[in-house]
Amino acid sequence: ARGAARASASQPTTTRDGRTIEVCANVAGGAEALIAAQEGADGIGLLRSEFLFLERDSAPSVDEQRGEYQAALDALGGKPVIVRTLDIGADKQLDYLPLPSVANPALGVRGIRLWASHTELLNSQLRALLTLEPLDALRIMLPMVSGVGELRALRQRLETLAGELGVSRLPQLGVMIEVPSAALCAASLAAEADFLSIGTNDLTQYTLAMDREDPGLAAQLDVLHPAVLRLIKATVEGAAGRCPVGVCGAAAGDPLALAVLVALGVDELSVEPSRVPAVKAALRELDAAALAEKLPTWLELDDATAVRERVKTWLE
Ligand code: PEP
Ligand code: MG
Repeated sequence: ARGAARASASQPTTTRDGRTIEVCANVAGGAEALIAAQEGADGIGLLRSEFLFLERDSAPSVDEQRGEYQAALDALGGKPVIVRTLDIGADKQLDYLPLPSVANPALGVRGIRLWASHTELLNSQLRALLTLEPLDALRIMLPMVSGVGELRALRQRLETLAGELGVSRLPQLGVMIEVPSAALCAASLAAEADFLSIGTNDLTQYTLAMDREDPGLAAQLDVLHPAVLRLIKATVEGAAGRCPVGVCGAAAGDPLALAVLVALGVDELSVEPSRVPAVKAALRELDAAALAEKLPTWLELDDATAVRERVKTWLE
C-alpha cells in the first residue's frame, strides 16, 4: 500500500468531493526538505528555523542561514517553501541569548514578541531570506502572532530591509494562527497576510490552558476538543477566501483530525515528511462535503472524546 501511495504522491491531491488540498511537509532544514521532496510533498509548509540556532555557541551568520534556507528552496525545485522566523522562548532556549527567567515562559516573550528586544537577530534572518532565489517560491511566516499590529510592524521592517538590499519584490508574508486571539481576529489578519497557517499544537495548548509539555495532561490535549474546532472554524470563516488557510500542527497528520480540518475548509496540510504519502492517500478517500454536514452537531458535543468517536465511526 505504501508503494502505491508513493507512486501517486506527486499528483495533485483531490478529495472525493473535488477539493484540491496541498500536502506539504514540516522540516528542520535543507536535508529534511530533500526527504520531503522525495516523499512527494507539494511544498514545505513549515521550516522551523529555530533548529539552525539551537545547540551552538553563537547565532548563525547571514551566510550560514542563507545556505540552509537556499538548500530547502533548491530541494523543492520551485514549489513553495514557508520559512518560519525564529520561534524560541518557552520550551526552546539558546545559550547565547539568555532570556529573563519568568514564571510562565509559554506566555512570555517568545516568537514574534522577541522582535522588540532582539531586533538585530531577526534582521539577520530577514536579510538571509531576502537574498534567496527564487523569491517567489519563498514564504515568510511569523510565529505566536496575537494581532494584526505585529504583522504590520514586520511587513514594514521587511520593506525597509528589502530597500537596503535593493530587492524590489517582497516574498509572501503570512502568520501562524496558534493563539486564540489570532483565531478570533482572523479576518483582520487575512486582510493583510498572504496566508494563514494554524499551529494546532499551540492553539490547543492555549485554548485549553494545558501545557503541551505536561505528561499528566497529554491525554486531554486533543485538537478535536469542540472549543479548538470552533476556533479553527472561526479562522477559516474569518479568512473567507481572502487568503489560503493551512494547518502545520501535528493534527494535520492525524488520520481523524485531518478529515475534520479539511471538512472545516482548510486548503493545505503540512505534516512530517514520511507521512505525506499516507495523508494524500487518506484525502483521496475523503468526502469532505459529506463530513462537513455532520460538523455543526459535533461542534456542540461535550468533549474531544465524543468528537473523536463520531469521526472514527463516520470514517469507518
Ligand atoms: C504549532 O504550534 O502547532 C506549531 C506547528 O509550531 P510548534 O510545534 O513549532 O510550536
Ligand atoms: Mg507553535
